[in-house]
Amino acid sequence: MFTHHAADSSSEAIVIGAGLGGLAAAMRLGAKGYRVTVLDRLDRVGGRGSSISQNGHRFDLGPTIVTVPQVFESLWAACGRDFYKDVDLRPLDPFYEIRWPDGSHFTARGDTAAMVEEVRRLSPGDVKGYLRFLKDSRRRYVVGFEGMVAKPMHRLWETIRVLPEFAVLRADKSIFGLARSRVRDPRLRMALSFHPLFIGGDPLHVTSMYALVSHLEKEFGVHYAIGGVQAIADAMAAVIRAQGGRIVQNVEADEIVFKGDAAAGVRLTGGEELAAPLVVSNADAGHTYTRLLRNRPRKRWTDAKVDSRRWSMGLFVWYFGTKGTAGMWPDVGHHTILSGPRYEGLLRDIFIKGKLADDMSLYVHRPSVTDPGVAPKGDDTFYALSPVPHLGFDNPVDWATEAETYKAKVTKVLQQLIPGFQDRISASLVYTPDDFRDRYLSPHGAGFSLEPRILQSAWFRPHNVSEEAQGLYLVGAGTHPGAGLPGVVSSAEVLAKLVPDAPARPAIRMAAE
Ligand SMILES: Cc1cc2nc3c(=O)[nH]c(=O)nc-3n(C[C@H](O)[C@H](O)[C@H](O)COP(=O)(O)OP(=O)(O)OC[C@H]3O[C@@H](n4cnc5c(N)ncnc54)[C@H](O)[C@@H]3O)c2cc1C
Repeated sequence: MFTHHAADSSSEAIVIGAGLGGLAAAMRLGAKGYRVTVLDRLDRVGGRGSSISQNGHRFDLGPTIVTVPQVFESLWAACGRDFYKDVDLRPLDPFYEIRWPDGSHFTARGDTAAMVEEVRRLSPGDVKGYLRFLKDSRRRYVVGFEGMVAKPMHRLWETIRVLPEFAVLRADKSIFGLARSRVRDPRLRMALSFHPLFIGGDPLHVTSMYALVSHLEKEFGVHYAIGGVQAIADAMAAVIRAQGGRIVQNVEADEIVFKGDAAAGVRLTGGEELAAPLVVSNADAGHTYTRLLRNRPRKRWTDAKVDSRRWSMGLFVWYFGTKGTAGMWPDVGHHTILSGPRYEGLLRDIFIKGKLADDMSLYVHRPSVTDPGVAPKGDDTFYALSPVPHLGFDNPVDWATEAETYKAKVTKVLQQLIPGFQDRISASLVYTPDDFRDRYLSPHGAGFSLEPRILQSAWFRPHNVSEEAQGLYLVGAGTHPGAGLPGVVSSAEVLAKLVPDAPARPAIRMAAE
């Protein structure tokens, strides 16, 4: 199965994991002339961005919102191709709607005047503060996104260099703290600060630098890929194959093997070994160090150190299809956030106490309003996501016994949005943190790897070039810059800055289109 064709093995590279970060890494390495083999234990590419089909419904398992599409544009451009020829990306307007239990709602859009009107409608006194928040958000974008995201951060100096600007921008303050200092209405405080939840961070504790996400949305839009993120992952796989790379599915890396101090390849769980002087791990950074390097003495990422990190929250996700509902619930769009009765208290239960609360906030995905291919004609495909504690707390939730009860609670909340849906269910699949642990080998079943706290970011996060071994690199959510599609795709851009061109660059890399 794994015969090597390369005349010169010095140009071989192995990427463990076909998540979006791993696929982007393989594309970047292919463009640099490496002969790349991508390994993944799943039967489809995309990792958390993969999909599962059931009864004619396509369930996009994870990411649904594509922001900052230029990270994909430049990835494709580095491979001599045009992203928009391979992927049908559609801008959404509105971006999403937030609903509160008192019946009030907030529609997020790219247009500033429309947003100001929404703020005025909810709380006229907060317009001035909102405009200040927009400025805060832009300034943080310039420093935090443009200045750091696609830059290598493995040298301490790179992080120290930005500290003066971080001090000016009060990066020590939480994003919730920043929102609270700008607006008085508790609903607006939530609407301006919840974004880090999409990358696994507790808004009460992650740095206010993440206010930059509001600017990203406004400036570059919120998009959806027809065919789901699976279609992006499939397009990435097609580029890799066109570059002469190969993707091997249903295989699991058991250990990274070494020759002296340098990575020399990967041993699979079946015992087979693949040799390459360049190994990139897109497996979770925690799994990479505690499992794939379990027999190596480690300077920094020891088991104890990995264990003592703060992990992002777990996710309870119910994917379901509904029969004959296409025209129903006309006010329910592509993305809805159903805010529960508590915000700060619920966050503390999830992130600090590790307690599964009875109340919840849900993110509801209804891709069938944008992408008819996601469901049989006349039907709908949904998912409802509830942030829950990860499995690393004392007395973690026993999902084997709890999942059905919790699903019933989710059903009750969902009835407010899509009344009667439970009588029309035509497909159903539930993922709990147990599934994240078992499917993606995610430590503690966390949804987004290490939490993006300030002392777990930039230099403090596992580096893209491993400090533990030569020839070993890391991409994906648990490394710099962090989780989310723009983050993991940018981690591969950082990789390309760290790795030289392949020593033996083959004459023809790209198959004719
Ligand atoms: C429900 C949900 C909703 C989200 N929504 C959004 C959103 O709307 N927008 C956004 O930008 N981001 C979103 N995210 C975050 C985003 O999806 C992730 O941060 C990103 O996809 C992670 O990519 P990754 O490259 O780190 O790898 P992963 O997707 O984690 O993939 C890693 C791959 O490695 C494989 N693997 C692991 N260990 C091994 C091994 N030992 N051997 C072989 N293979 C292995 C796994 O099978 C997996 O395929 C969401 C995430 C979730 C879970």
